[in-house]
Amino acid sequence: MIPYGRQHITDEDIAAVIETLQSDFLTQGPKIAEFEQAFATYVGSAYAVAVNNGTAALHLGVMALGLQPHQKVITTPITFVASANCIQYCGAQVLFADIDPTTYLIDIAQVEALCQTQSDVVGIIPVDFAGYPVHMEQLHAVAEKYGLWILEDACHAPGAWFIDSCGNKQFCGNGTYSNATVFSFHPVKHIATGEGGMITTNSKQVYEKLCMLRTHGITRNPEIMLENHGPWYYEMQELGYNYRITDFQCALGLSQLKRANNGLTRRNQIAEKYNKAFAHTCIQTPQVADSVYHAYHLYVIQVLNRLELYTYLRSKEIFTQVHYIPVHTMPYYKAQGYKQGDFPIAEAYYEHCLSLPMYPSLTNEQQDFVIQTILEFYNT
Ligand SMILES: *Cc1c(COP(=O)(O)O)cnc(C)c1O
Repeated sequence: MIPYGRQHITDEDIAAVIETLQSDFLTQGPKIAEFEQAFATYVGSAYAVAVNNGTAALHLGVMALGLQPHQKVITTPITFVASANCIQYCGAQVLFADIDPTTYLIDIAQVEALCQTQSDVVGIIPVDFAGYPVHMEQLHAVAEKYGLWILEDACHAPGAWFIDSCGNKQFCGNGTYSNATVFSFHPVKHIATGEGGMITTNSKQVYEKLCMLRTHGITRNPEIMLENHGPWYYEMQELGYNYRITDFQCALGLSQLKRANNGLTRRNQIAEKYNKAFAHTCIQTPQVADSVYHAYHLYVIQVLNRLELYTYLRSKEIFTQVHYIPVHTMPYYKAQGYKQGDFPIAEAYYEHCLSLPMYPSLTNEQQDFVIQTILEFYNT
């Protein structure tokens, strides 16, 4: 069986988890800060806050950046539902902007058009879909103009970067052009901790707020407590959650992070091989700008007869996937007034997209089999 994505667990990973299981702390121990610091260094941010999943990271991200029930936030319809749901968690309204037909990323001109026509827009949640980094410098220019924050959903893109107009490499999550960035450590993502997530930021204020919200809104920091009754004292200053991650998950994350760059290199190799194999066929392969390092969480092709191809591959034990069903067409969002036809480019993309197997431990033989099976389907 060949899935579209899967985790890679080594003996070293297992040893790291066992070591932490035998230590003093299963949770709230030293592995969490260690993982946070290593991850912040990896993406180039000042701060990182680890949480129990990527969805919790999104929720705390919008809370920390500020979102009130009467306000609106813009995101893309081609993403996992969590990118939009975090806005709903705050009782606020989701606005979708259609995608760019070439990159499949949020169309920055559409974002600006919404800013001109809608009131109470306070933020943007761009998604580095499939691992393709959004041109955050251009999006940031729009955000500045309209006074919006940016919460980047980089769940697909740890380690990806683009080159900005000054010729500098800007890694997803480094905070140069976004206020905060979220990542997920679900097993299909680049770095697996079972369930897990991270928020990176360069703002000390956002960082402190995230730390408090992650643990019930409680602080033990004497500098910000209103009272202090003694060494046992803590203060709950606002309504937070228990969104903590465990130490043994962070031990796994640290171990996985060491191999992250090897994984990216391998993903890019796999992408190149697919690109070559499908170059002169009716299969539309991803189009990636030269100024971008793609993280290839997904390798998405666009095809005719998608359902038939999907079914054929399944009969050969190759399990592809569709990313994504446009979020605005989900019954929940339809109930908010969205309908089929609202975002035609996203909807047309959805008709033809298919994610092929893409993960570092996919062998050359397995990939050859996938390619051969697809070519066979179109030649018969
Ligand atoms: C996986 C994912 C999430 C949610 O992450 P979880 O860790 O599964 O909660 C959010 N946004 C995108 C784009 C994702 O791919």
